[in-house]
Amino acid sequence: IIQLYVPLNWFGTYYRAIQKNFVDMENMFDLLSERQEVIDAPGAGPIVVKRGVVQFKNVTFSYVRDRVVLKNVTFEVPAGKTVALVGPSGSGKSTIIRLLFRFYDVDTGSIEIDGQNIKTVTQESLRRTIGVVPQDTVLFNNTILYNINYGRLDAAESDVMNAARGADIHERIMTFPNKYETEVGERGLRLSGGEKQRVAIARTLLKAPTIVLLDEATSALDTQTERNIQASLNEMCVNRTTIIVAHRLSTIIHADEILVLKEGEIVERGTHDNLVGQEGVYASMWKQQLQNKDGKSAESSIEQST
Ligand code: ATP
Repeated sequence: IIQLYVPLNWFGTYYRAIQKNFVDMENMFDLLSERQEVIDAPGAGPIVVKRGVVQFKNVTFSYVRDRVVLKNVTFEVPAGKTVALVGPSGSGKSTIIRLLFRFYDVDTGSIEIDGQNIKTVTQESLRRTIGVVPQDTVLFNNTILYNINYGRLDAAESDVMNAARGADIHERIMTFPNKYETEVGERGLRLSGGEKQRVAIARTLLKAPTIVLLDEATSALDTQTERNIQASLNEMCVNRTTIIVAHRLSTIIHADEILVLKEGEIVERGTHDNLVGQEGVYASMWKQQLQNKDGKSAESSIEQST
């Protein structure tokens, strides 16, 4: 009994960590590959992605029985376009992202990429197609080079540097004591929140996925840092199908479509201008955010306004 208990407990700890924080889930999946809930269908082949169209079709999902977290969610992200998810805490935004990465299988309905149900393809190929920039990026206790290289292990050093340039962190790295060979992470040089996010962006640029999932950091960055990060994020998302979980409405004004979630349902959808004109949930969130502009965090206004 003890022998069984220890690994299960270990598993539980890591499992909860990923559920909660999206802690570098691509890496965690390697660790957990023995124990996934989701398994490849017999004979599943790799996904074939030419355009990168993402469709949720009447998706309903519960983590536990009798508590539906997503209800009949339907939307499409056309190839290369950006859809933003907003709504109060617990409304199901991150769950949508987790389902697309196939952390779990949907209960009813389907998720399709270029017309292929993600249940029918190998998870390895699915996850190769999708890049994730989580809220909090975990750095390995290794060099900054290794940390960026992780996005595509066979990439040449020159590609790593180009990715770092794209993420606007190259110049900063060149000021580190050993440049790209500088040890970072808990036991090395500590990076700021904004720098860690840039590392995640650089990793994703290096991976060059067709689809990008971006879980915006809730922690407030200073305005200048935020502006710089925004520029790198925009660069990352150009011509990639993008889904953003947004905590600050200012970052999604130009999204092709905004979905407003409440208790697992899409209650409003449209562009920023459409939604502001509708005097609904989004319009009141936007008003709140404008009022709070001089206040400390715009994020709290989103969470409170519904
Ligand atoms: P936030 O803005 O706070 O990140 P969210 O909109 O992303 O919230 P989700 O994380 O998708 O919300 O959670 C939706 C609902 O599912 C919540 O009620 C949450 O408590 C529940 N939930 C999330 N993860 C699990 C889990 N692993 N097991 C059971 N319930 C969960």
